[in-house]
Amino acid sequence: MNDAVPEKKLKLATAALCGCFGCHMSLLDIDERILKLVELVEFDRTPLTDIKAVGNCDIGLIEGGVANTENVEVLRDFRRHCKVLVAFGACAVNGGIPAMRNQFDLQDCLQEVYLDGIGVENPHIPDDPEIPLLLDKVHPVHEVVKIDYFLPGCPPSADTIWIFLNELIAGEAITFPYSLIHYD
Ligand code: SF4
Repeated sequence: MNDAVPEKKLKLATAALCGCFGCHMSLLDIDERILKLVELVEFDRTPLTDIKAVGNCDIGLIEGGVANTENVEVLRDFRRHCKVLVAFGACAVNGGIPAMRNQFDLQDCLQEVYLDGIGVENPHIPDDPEIPLLLDKVHPVHEVVKIDYFLPGCPPSADTIWIFLNELIAGEAITFPYSLIHYD
């Protein structure tokens, strides 16, 4: 791992599309190492900074799959502004848990959730124009834009994220110890 502090900080942005924020929570699990991370990068749009629009960045981390029209917009915006774009966690890599709905027709899902499901009160399918339209299927991010790196795991562990970011920032080939790449 490279301990040198770069002269110029890289810019890092992150976004959660259709995910559970678990990957972002795992990023926070690097604990006090976040102090080292802020020596290496400046945070742009992230849930941590609450900046709403992504600026020109060196690295973008995308959590979650692409489930609605707003997800598509955010993802394309990140692709336009980030030199390196990373599919961050299983939902971004392969659709993950949200993509379990792909085996059903979207209309059937809405019917079950909002009209017929157990415990539904005031049954109606929300149609406020402010709510982004759902796509027919949940897509992994690489089906929508070009992705440079895939970091699997649900979520990727804090140690995996730490090594990945350090080596990426240092411009080194990314290698993980065996303990971080076996899952049994
Ligand atoms: Fe949550 Fe796992 Fe998906 Fe990350 S990969 S957003 S932790 S379900």
